Amino acid sequence: MNDDSGLPEDGEQVPSSQTDSSSTDPDGFDQQPTEKDQAATNQASSTIQNLATIPQRAVARQEEADTILTSTPIVDVRNLAKTYIIGRTSIRALQGISLGVYQGEFVAVMGPSGSGKSTFMNLVGCLDRPSQGEYRLAGKLVSSLSNDELANIRNRQIGFVFQGFNLLTRSNALSNVILPMVYAGVSREERERRGRSVLRLVGLGDRMDHKPSELSGGQQQRVAIARALVNGPSLLLADEPTGNLDSRTGLEIMAVLQALNEQGLTILMVTHEPDIAKFARRQVTFRDGLIVSDEPVLSPASAKEEWTKLVNKVTAEHKVKVTEETR
Ligand code: ADP
Repeated sequence: MNDDSGLPEDGEQVPSSQTDSSSTDPDGFDQQPTEKDQAATNQASSTIQNLATIPQRAVARQEEADTILTSTPIVDVRNLAKTYIIGRTSIRALQGISLGVYQGEFVAVMGPSGSGKSTFMNLVGCLDRPSQGEYRLAGKLVSSLSNDELANIRNRQIGFVFQGFNLLTRSNALSNVILPMVYAGVSREERERRGRSVLRLVGLGDRMDHKPSELSGGQQQRVAIARALVNGPSLLLADEPTGNLDSRTGLEIMAVLQALNEQGLTILMVTHEPDIAKFARRQVTFRDGLIVSDEPVLSPASAKEEWTKLVNKVTAEHKVKVTEETR
């Protein structure tokens, strides 16, 4: 199958050091900030403060968006089932679920381990086929397409963001972001222009030549978000996007996702953390391959506000400590 989902190729592995965030401290604040941490915080601060200036769907194919009637769901699954057969055992990972996700929604998919979240995301992401049921993406029936057609739709319509970032370790930020456009057959000049544009969009205009190892965990995830946006997708699929990040950096990434959503991007995000799901506008919970609840979040928390509060608190505590030590 033509792999255009942004996963590393050519035997490139994501080393464990890359999938770790820069700190092992869950909150990221017990240790003295290093110069690299401080620089990353300053840079994140500038990104967070400037999020309001993200242009609307900067690289989206607007004419396509315009033709999608607002009443047509971006994701429309009906009675979707998936059964895995292993030897003589069959595992009913999804038992017939129906769900519509509309343009501009931000949906958190929750549920315990083994409840079918990944199976559902793989189907929605056109990475696998259902055993039964129908799936329409932006009005197009995809459940019966050929492998090549699926690869094409995946590349053009869906952006993926993974827990482990899945960046090519030997390539710089710009090359990573450009990759999906190579598969989409975009001209070299246009690739360069769009690549730079989306990296600036996520606040990494000054890090385009940096390799993943030269970036913080949050910056790597922002490169991955830029890569996901570069073909102007109808849908962003995020699988535990903050799972490898400390809580401050997780807030930074959620602020970026919220800003993109506020400007019209449809987002479907798997998370097992209620503290992350509270930033979505809707929470869908899976259990045993079924949807057991589907609720709107009436007033979603603001990740930007929480990030700012957290950084101010830590800065104030740091100042008190320094003052006490110098007495
Ligand atoms: P979750 O993402 O909520 O943890 P999954 O979708 O990964 O749940 O798994 C749902 C069920 O399907 C589990 O019982 C799991 O063991 C099974 N499963 C998932 N993927 C496969 C596979 N490729 N082959 C066989 N069984 C699988």
